[in-house]
Amino acid sequence: MTDDLLEDATARFAEASALATMSDDTRERLTRPASVLKVSIPVRLDNGELQTFAGYRVRYDDTRGPAKGGIRFHPSVTAEEVTTLAFWMTFKTALLDLPFGGGKGGVTVDPKTLSNSELERLSRGYIAAVADVIGPDVDIPAPDVATNQLVMGWMATEYDKIARGHVPAVLTGKPLALGGIQGRDSATSDGAFHVIQVLRDRVLGDLEHPRAVVQGFGNAGSQLARSLHDDGWKVVAVSDSRAAIHDPDGLDVPVLQQHKEDTGSLSSPPSGEELNSGTVLDVPCDALIPSALEGAIHAGNAAVVDCRVVFEVANGPVTADADKILDAKGIEVVPDILVNAGGVTVSWFEWIANRSGDRWSGAMVAERLAERMTTETRYVADLADGRGLKLRTAAYVHALERLTAAVDATGTSAMFGSEGGI
Ligand code: NAD
Repeated sequence: MTDDLLEDATARFAEASALATMSDDTRERLTRPASVLKVSIPVRLDNGELQTFAGYRVRYDDTRGPAKGGIRFHPSVTAEEVTTLAFWMTFKTALLDLPFGGGKGGVTVDPKTLSNSELERLSRGYIAAVADVIGPDVDIPAPDVATNQLVMGWMATEYDKIARGHVPAVLTGKPLALGGIQGRDSATSDGAFHVIQVLRDRVLGDLEHPRAVVQGFGNAGSQLARSLHDDGWKVVAVSDSRAAIHDPDGLDVPVLQQHKEDTGSLSSPPSGEELNSGTVLDVPCDALIPSALEGAIHAGNAAVVDCRVVFEVANGPVTADADKILDAKGIEVVPDILVNAGGVTVSWFEWIANRSGDRWSGAMVAERLAERMTTETRYVADLADGRGLKLRTAAYVHALERLTAAVDATGTSAMFGSEGGI
């Protein structure tokens, strides 16, 4: 599965690179990661036993700036998965024109099996193990699946201990009290909401109350479901790893958010019916919004998808094979590297504020996020329309053109030209 993921990612790269104006140097540079670190993290459990976890930090490419990407705690984490996620980050930061490259980290662990103090020891142990390869000018981690502000706070303070000083810009997504930024928690869903607003007429026409289905009612998915609900959409189904909930007339999203916060899951919901199938991917809707993990929509289930457009909030939720099936059904896919780029964009603001010793207001964050997401979404849509490309291909082509400009500016071919000599 994860090998296929990397294959999928590189196949899409190959497809876009055939259409982009790019140098052979860029193609060669982006073919493999710059560095893959695997570490072992010994953690003393509450019962006194010692358990060792595998952790990873991948720097895929840092030509455009320090690597940037989250840290994931999940049982499925492997070197291949983290490498693929770092590859996508390279394109995402280029697409949004952030001064970063692409990185990612992860620990192979089911965080639900650990107590809070065990999680803290694991988080601190991870940072101690990767401290040599991260830094504000080198590689800047952030939250991802099952890591949050609390985890970033443990990690940031562990790094400070190692560095013997305050280095807030080493990590983003920190608690506000430790140099975090207003709006980081909702940045991914806010960014996705801007993308949806820009593309709404293009992909949904003039529907007054479009129906949305959100798979993955976590940090990004639940907040986006709430924004859509507040904007007059009917959120007809949502799911998490334990339950799938449906109401064709529209769910009461705020009530479900509160229920998930109180009980930790969507099971036994106060709004809507629990679906025995456990999945929402086949629920008819206008916009399907996969917001859980990669590979959710694959060749085996793409045929049941019944919507007009898919907005990829998760990273890599639609496989390359599924893309073809959705395309044949006339379903448009808006790609992850655009839809979920709000998180890394606000992380950039946090990094800037930390480096300049400044504090940004929530209004500054919201304004600059809206400007960046709107500008790049319009550019991608115009490129797609102008050249007859799918939105995913257009996003990759746009990112590749920025990457190629950077690689060419650093390489000998730029200095000497094809004739040699300056
Ligand atoms: P999260 O851990 O807060 O939420 C993930 C949710 O998915 C959880 O509710 C979990 O129960 C659910 N889930 C897991 N497997 C499922 C399944 N098979 N069916 C239905 N639901 C399932 O994580 P998150 O931060 O919201 O991230 C979600 C996705 O968005 C990931 O792909 C992540 O890489 C991507 N993303 C997140 C951010 C961010 O800032 N949080 C930024 C960019 C991309």
